[in-house]
Amino acid sequence: MIALLDIGGTKIAAAAGRDAAIGTVRRIQTPVDSPLTTLRGLVEGVMGGVLPEAIAISAPGPFDRASGALRNPPGMPASWHGLELAYLLGQRFDCPVVVENDANCAALAEARLGAGAGHRTVVYWTVSTGIGCGIVRDSRIVVGRHDTEGGHMVLWPAWLGGPPCHCGGAGCLEALASGRAIARRYGIAAEHLSDPEAWAEIGRWIGLATVNVTAVHDPDAVIFGGGVCASWSRFSPSLMETVQRYLHLQSQPEIARGTLGEERSLLGALLIAEDRGERPVRRLTAR
Ligand SMILES: [Zn+2]
Repeated sequence: MIALLDIGGTKIAAAAGRDAAIGTVRRIQTPVDSPLTTLRGLVEGVMGGVLPEAIAISAPGPFDRASGALRNPPGMPASWHGLELAYLLGQRFDCPVVVENDANCAALAEARLGAGAGHRTVVYWTVSTGIGCGIVRDSRIVVGRHDTEGGHMVLWPAWLGGPPCHCGGAGCLEALASGRAIARRYGIAAEHLSDPEAWAEIGRWIGLATVNVTAVHDPDAVIFGGGVCASWSRFSPSLMETVQRYLHLQSQPEIARGTLGEERSLLGALLIAEDRGERPVRRLTAR
């Protein structure tokens, strides 16, 4: 069995999995101040006394690919910053550890098993507290030098008055349509926002981002997930209309909500670990 962790700004989810299926998911609220102790406890809890063959972690970006160290994940206490998750958990459980960006994990799961199944090129957007993007081509995550940062695609530049973004820039998609941006711009949490005009504008920004990502990657499908998508019916009409209006040289990709639910990042982490084929079976020894 492979131990799976999905680390997010509001909660950490954990489960054990194998053969592209996961067991019961445990969730705790974040942030926690003693991350390593917490993660060890979760791994031990979901493994039920068996040592994991591997640990696969869906992590908030940015992180260092070589060491698995988190680099200032937004909203997390200082104790998480620089934490070398892969090294430390690998030592503790004596097993391989893989760490991947949470949007990439979710993208892989939706591309293989969810709304993107059967398509060659799939773009996945998570629209949540922040906004992330993952690209999957031929069932593999497309990784560049670091990670994709689709949420920081600039749609409203500073010279035209775009609002500041926590990344240091201005007018990023994340500063316009994320849960955090909605709370700041409209003074209300996304789940309580009902103003149709506000949602139409949010849909236009996400639609414009979809046009831009389509221009570059020409995907078969663009899939959406994340907490803000609970209001899909409120913003998807203007999203679709924006894509129809501004996408000219390419046919419109399939645009849909993901079908795997909030466990998609755990599932994606499992797929990544199983792709690597690291599966020796061991029993828990006395500690
Ligand atoms: Zn930004």
